[in-house]
Amino acid sequence: MAERLRPAEKFKRDRVPMKEQDPKERIKNFDEVPFGYSFEEAIKEAQRCLQCNPAPCVEGCPADVHVPQFIDKILDEDVEAAFREIKITNALPAVCGRVCPQEEQCEGACVMNKKGKPIAIGRLERFVADWAREKGITDEDVRAEKTNKKVAIVGSGPAGLACAADLAKLGYDVTIFEALHKPGGVLVYGIPEFRLPKAIVQYEVDQIKKLGVKILTDYVIGYIKTVDELVEEYDAVFLANGAGAPSFLGIPGENLNGVYSASEFLTRSNLMRAFDFPNYDTPINVGKRVVVIGGGNVAMDAVRTAKRLGAEEAIIVYRRSRAEMPARAEEIEHAEAEGIRFELLTNPVRVIGDENGNVKGLECVRMELGEPDESGRRRPVPIEGSNFVMDVDNVIIAIGQNANPIVARSATGVETNKWGYFIADEETGKTTHPKVWAGGDIVTGAATVILAVGAGKKAAKSIHETLSKA
Ligand SMILES: Cc1cc2nc3c(=O)[nH]c(=O)nc-3n(C[C@H](O)[C@H](O)[C@H](O)COP(=O)(O)OP(=O)(O)OC[C@H]3O[C@@H](n4cnc5c(N)ncnc54)[C@H](O)[C@@H]3O)c2cc1C
Repeated sequence: MAERLRPAEKFKRDRVPMKEQDPKERIKNFDEVPFGYSFEEAIKEAQRCLQCNPAPCVEGCPADVHVPQFIDKILDEDVEAAFREIKITNALPAVCGRVCPQEEQCEGACVMNKKGKPIAIGRLERFVADWAREKGITDEDVRAEKTNKKVAIVGSGPAGLACAADLAKLGYDVTIFEALHKPGGVLVYGIPEFRLPKAIVQYEVDQIKKLGVKILTDYVIGYIKTVDELVEEYDAVFLANGAGAPSFLGIPGENLNGVYSASEFLTRSNLMRAFDFPNYDTPINVGKRVVVIGGGNVAMDAVRTAKRLGAEEAIIVYRRSRAEMPARAEEIEHAEAEGIRFELLTNPVRVIGDENGNVKGLECVRMELGEPDESGRRRPVPIEGSNFVMDVDNVIIAIGQNANPIVARSATGVETNKWGYFIADEETGKTTHPKVWAGGDIVTGAATVILAVGAGKKAAKSIHETLSKA
């Protein structure tokens, strides 16, 4: 049992830092950047927790992770009990512990923020999940008595997986239909290995399969089977097909060789393992100078991937200032440490090609910030006459994702909004069709892993309430 500190002593303690790979080394490999906490470091950090009751951190977590309880179990030095406490509500703790925007969720709500740094809840969650995986501790014993009801889920991203896990635990026969050859959604095709190793995603997916969930891969709903057919065959359908269609800028030269959408670039590198050459021979063309357009997490992932794939100079072009960048602060700091160049207050206007149709330059214009726009951020305004050309070999566009219409087109009576996202009740995930629920990015637009997990859980609860009355 670790020593329980008095509140005054807790406030005196600093947050325990997490060791990570040296930036000079890590730009040469795809290994995970942070190493995670050791047992001793986890105990030291857990000692800072105030054990609030009620706990604002739990309210800040869309998956309702029992934060004070699992941290208390760490202090008991009973990591297995901490793992079981987390797993009551969250099927993806190793994933969430790594990539959740904790600073806005659980840690954002932590009372410690008033005096210093919040408890490192994400790092502690990751520690517990990794420890359980290394020790082979699973939760397969929690399977409930079977109901005779079947649920179909479209998409195996965090929303689909979270919904599947909760329904399987309630005894439903759950089948996930996944278009790609591997389950995990953005966790496998979007987020790079150096932030979220694929073996970790696979491990958590395997745990969900052990609950009895079936996952059919290479199965595109809308082509192989329609949503209407699923509605006929299943008692309920949950649509969690994400927002994977890339947005483009609409500037001249966007179809030149050497221009990628971030989705394509990251999918080639992550899911198709182009980074793992010569074990995998997936074509990916990375020149000496690569520009990534955008300022979100996707842009940071693409630019850091380009650097690791051999770009001598990897550059972010973003039309606002650093303060407005939507990427997590930690991702921006990691990119800066890795030598990524930031061209801020800069907007591309034209991609320039050579006589063979390959990219050779990017014309940009400098921007200044004007009045706030409808998003509340100051609107970027071009500075007349400030155009300039950068010599570049690749341009990667990371300015957002849209809804792919394939699923919606095969779903009669499930209404979408003007952008093609499903209309679903925020609290239950119910759509305009009585047997269909929807959640995650295909309802909200591109958001976060934990919001998708939360949406999957809410839909599972609502499906259970509806089917247990039927
Ligand atoms: C590069 C990148 C980095 C990100 N980084 C972070 C981060 O650090 N932290 C964070 O919280 N969030 C991050 N996000 C956002 C987060 O990953 C998403 O919000 C989350 O994955 C959405 O989950 P989802 O289950 O709704 O959809 P997805 O993860 O998109 O999963 C949808 C699944 O449905 C499948 N599908 C689509 N159409 C069909 C069909 N017709 N039939 C069958 N299956 C289909 C897809 O193949 C996919 O597997 C990132 C996103 C990207 C793109």
